[in-house]
Amino acid sequence: MKKYELDTLCVQAGYEPKNGEPRVFPIVQSTTFKYDSSDAMGDLFDLKASGYFYTRLANPTNDTVAKKIAVLEGGVGAMMTSSGQAASLFSIINICHAGDHLISTNSIYGGTMNLLYKTIKEMGIDVTFVASDITAEELDRFYQPNTKCVFTETLSNPTLVIADIELLANSAHAHGVPLIIDNTFPTPMNCRPIEFGADIVIHSTTKYMDGHAVQVGGVIVDSGKFDWAQNDKFPGLTEPDESYHGLCYTEAFGPAAYITKCVTHLMRDIGAQAAPMNSFLLNLGLETLALRMERHCSNALKVAKYLEASDKVEWVNFPGLESSPYYALAQKYMPNGTCGVVSFGIKGGREKAVKFMDSLCLAAVATHVADLRTCALHPASATHRQLTSEQLKEAMIPENMVRFSVGIENPDDILADLENALKVL
Ligand SMILES: *Cc1c(COP(=O)(O)O)cnc(C)c1O
Repeated sequence: MKKYELDTLCVQAGYEPKNGEPRVFPIVQSTTFKYDSSDAMGDLFDLKASGYFYTRLANPTNDTVAKKIAVLEGGVGAMMTSSGQAASLFSIINICHAGDHLISTNSIYGGTMNLLYKTIKEMGIDVTFVASDITAEELDRFYQPNTKCVFTETLSNPTLVIADIELLANSAHAHGVPLIIDNTFPTPMNCRPIEFGADIVIHSTTKYMDGHAVQVGGVIVDSGKFDWAQNDKFPGLTEPDESYHGLCYTEAFGPAAYITKCVTHLMRDIGAQAAPMNSFLLNLGLETLALRMERHCSNALKVAKYLEASDKVEWVNFPGLESSPYYALAQKYMPNGTCGVVSFGIKGGREKAVKFMDSLCLAAVATHVADLRTCALHPASATHRQLTSEQLKEAMIPENMVRFSVGIENPDDILADLENALKVL
C-alpha cells in the first residue's frame, strides 16, 4: 500500500479488494481450508509454501487485521491473539525459557504484574522489577548473563506512568536483548514505540483499538529490526527447529523470524488464537481509531483541568497536565495526546470517593477502561478490594483514588456529570 498518513491507514490498510470482491473484508468463519492434493498441503506443513489450512495457525480475517495493525505500528508483521494477556505471555515465552531472566518496569497493568510475578516465575523464568524512572546506570546492574528481554508499558494502566522508551531500548540493545513494550493506552495514533527503538510491540486490542467494548483480543507486532543472531542468547530463533525438519527461523524468514515463530510454534502448540468474528469487530473499531483518540484526548484534558481547579479534589494524575511529573516525557513521546484515562483523589478519603461514584449519572461504574462511553472505577472497593490499607499504599492505590475513563460524548455533558457528583460531597 502507498505511503499514507496514519488516519488514512486506519481506514484503508490491510485489505485492497480486487475487481468484484467485497468492499468489506468478510468474516472467514471456517476452521479449515481445502486443497487439491496431499503434496500441496504438505508444503504448507513444511512452511515451504504459505497458505491457510487451520484457523488455529492462521485465518484470512485475522491476518487482514494483523496486517493493518502491523502497518499502523510500522512493523514487518503481526499476530492476533485471543486476549491482551495471551499477547503478553506469547511475546515473552517466544524468547524466554526456563532458566532465563527478564527485567520489567514495575508500573504495569495489574494482570501483567500477576502474569510476570506468578505464572512466568512458575515457568522457571526469573523476573526483576525495576522502577519506571530508573537511570541507565542503575539499570545496567540488573542484567544477568541469562537476561533475554526488557519489558515495559508505554503509558501504564492505571498509574499513567510514561516509560522513557529510548533509554530502555538503548539499554536493552547495549546488553544484546530486545525491548518489548505494551502500547495499549496510547495506541499507534499517539505513540509508535518502534520509532524510538522498541523491538516488539504488544496490545490489548480490548481497549481503545476496539473502543466499543465488544471483543477481548490482543496483538503482537514485530519491528523486524532486532538482530537475533548477534549473540547466542536466542537459540530458538537461530538454531534448527526439530519440529520443522531443522528449519532455522532467522535464515528462513529474515526480519520476520520472531513473529513467524510466534505463529508456527506458540500458536500451533498453545492455541489462544483470535476468533475471526472478533477480528472483524476489532477492525470496525480500528477504522475510527484516529477520530476517537483525538476526542478521548481532548475530552480528558478538559476533565483533568476541571478537576484540578475543583476544591473537592485533592490531586489529579494526567500526563497532559503541565503539573504532571510526566509532562515532559508526554511531550516527547506523545505530543498529540496521551489517552482518555484520568485518575484523581477525592478530598475526604474512601467514604467520599464512594459517595462520588454513587452520584455519577452519565459515567457508568465499570471495571473497563478505554471505552467510548465514559466510565469510572473506585479501585479500593473494586479491583483492589482484597488489599488492606497498608497493601493499597504499597500498590500506590490511594483509598480516595478514582479512575475515570473519559469517553467521546460531548465534553460539556461529562463535565456536568462531574460537577453534579462533586456537589453532593
Ligand atoms: C487490559 C490490558 C491488558 C490485558 O488485556 P486483556 O485483553 O484484558 O487480556 C494488558 N495490558 C494493558 C495495558 C491493559 O490495559
